[in-house]
Amino acid sequence: MIDRFGAQGRYDRFDLIKLRRWSAGRVAIIGDAAHALPPNIGQGAGCAMMNALSLAVYLERNANVPAALETWETNERPITEHTQRMSYLLGLPTTWPPFLRTLALGWTGRSKWLVAQRTKTALHRPTGTAPQ
Ligand SMILES: Cc1cc2nc3c(=O)[nH]c(=O)nc-3n(C[C@H](O)[C@H](O)[C@H](O)COP(=O)(O)OP(=O)(O)OC[C@H]3O[C@@H](n4cnc5c(N)ncnc54)[C@H](O)[C@@H]3O)c2cc1C
Repeated sequence: MIDRFGAQGRYDRFDLIKLRRWSAGRVAIIGDAAHALPPNIGQGAGCAMMNALSLAVYLERNANVPAALETWETNERPITEHTQRMSYLLGLPTTWPPFLRTLALGWTGRSKWLVAQRTKTALHRPTGTAPQ
């Protein structure tokens, strides 16, 4: 099948989307539209779901919607930004020469600090699931 692509084959880079703000007035943007990330650590949908759930929590706590959205973004955005950084950085070696790539990816698997950074999102307890 891959041979049949011939000259039609192409490679698209994954998007990394960062908005100046996730909300304006009473409107909020969630999911990939707000914070798409390369799927290197498989957390894009996880972030979308965490931000959707926490959005409901902050709106339930505060009837002032613009203020609730601002608090939501201030408190919740850092874990998504961390996830975007890690996902982007861990994708860089995939374009390096094989020797350097193997060296870099081997090191990222052995470094306790890097493993902690990579798994931080998966181990994060989302707002709305823990006792508040
Ligand atoms: C290869 C790959 C592997 C991944 N693996 C993981 C993983 O293991 N774990 C994980 O958590 N995440 C993973 N992700 C990320 C995850 O797929 C996305 O973060 C998630 O789907 C984002 O959900 P969303 O609803 O924000 O956007 P989307 O899923 O993109 O949904 C947007 C929807 O809007 C529709 N749409 C667009 N424009 C319009 C329009 N003008 N009018 C009407 N509809 C429109 C689109 O057709 C689409 O159905 C992966 C992504 C890729 C590409």
